[in-house]
Amino acid sequence: MYRNFFLLTILAAFCALTGCANSNANEPEGQAKYIFLFIGDGMGQAQAAVTESYLAYRDGELGGLGRLSFTKFPYLGMATTYSANRNITCSSAAGTALATGFKTNNSVLGKTPDGKDLESFTYRLKEEGYRIGIISNVPVNHATPASFYANAKSRNDYYEISLQIPESGFDYFAGDGFLDFNGKDGSKEDIDRKIESQGYTISYGMEEYEAEKDAARLILCQKDNRKSDSENYVVKHTEEEEISLKEMVETAIERFSGDGRPFFIMAEGGTIDWAGHDNRTMALTEKVLELDAAVKEAYEFYLKHPDETLIVVTADHETGGLTLGCGKGDDIKWDKLESAWEAAGKKDITGDEENAKLNKSANIGWSTGGHTGIPVPVYAVGNGAEMFSGCYDNTDIPKKIMREE
Ligand SMILES: [Zn+2]
Repeated sequence: MYRNFFLLTILAAFCALTGCANSNANEPEGQAKYIFLFIGDGMGQAQAAVTESYLAYRDGELGGLGRLSFTKFPYLGMATTYSANRNITCSSAAGTALATGFKTNNSVLGKTPDGKDLESFTYRLKEEGYRIGIISNVPVNHATPASFYANAKSRNDYYEISLQIPESGFDYFAGDGFLDFNGKDGSKEDIDRKIESQGYTISYGMEEYEAEKDAARLILCQKDNRKSDSENYVVKHTEEEEISLKEMVETAIERFSGDGRPFFIMAEGGTIDWAGHDNRTMALTEKVLELDAAVKEAYEFYLKHPDETLIVVTADHETGGLTLGCGKGDDIKWDKLESAWEAAGKKDITGDEENAKLNKSANIGWSTGGHTGIPVPVYAVGNGAEMFSGCYDNTDIPKKIMREE
């Protein structure tokens, strides 16, 4: 009997050294067991600071630090975002860096500049027994979510990108719907039929989701978005019907957390970028708050599993060259921005010219209608979060998540 005990001890020590502890698939080696990666598309440090400044204004205060959940996270880093061929990246090159750890050219997705496929770390996690959830409040075949499951010469090859969803075998997707529902020329088979024929269920709206949620592999889309083939971000649904990013993350946690299996969830706040391109200050704060509400869902989960959970919140790039201050103004006139926003029914205010005037009069500076090359913040909490402090490149983020450095 002592001899058996001795052998077991040797075996256990051997397993600990060699990592054969995979005999228990629920306990992954190395990286955190539950991983959340939030990407605010176009959310630089100023986007968070402007939103917090507005929240402080509403409380009759200045500053605002800690009013967003993730600015309270204990670790903060800065990541450079340039692509393989530009100082200023686009979402597909940045998404590729975040998902694969390699730089590529702007507009390329999940491939090297010379066209070789790169593999997202989500595939390695899946092999290790993780459930994978890919979530965005823009279409599921858009650049950022697509970087985590697809390879394409161009980020605009939407139909070809959608076809890679069933190939991924990933457990759960959520987003607006599909761009190029019938391909570029409109002649291809309905993309949802095609995906459903390969073992996925596609639910449009929460009502359908509730009825179908037991499906093992599911894609949640906004109600009425079937065949809508919407332009980016121009999606027609009323606010009550719209599934929020928060709800998408909530459903993912619900689906994944029942049996103690490890999981990875990437959730993108894609509309922050839209507000940035249009230099819409109030819309921007709303979109940042949308992401924050989703991060709070993950944070609630983290509080229940603090030793096993990692949450990382970052951006693919900054959009708009936003600053708190412009001209000679030394204060932000939130009252002007807020009243114009409310007068317009919390919608897009006016034309671009009038909007620019409004920003200027409120002392909010925007330097471009495009992206910028300024490094983006990386906020982290939980298992392995300390690895995210300091300055590094966006290609280091997946390596840190996978504990490869
Ligand atoms: Zn953009």
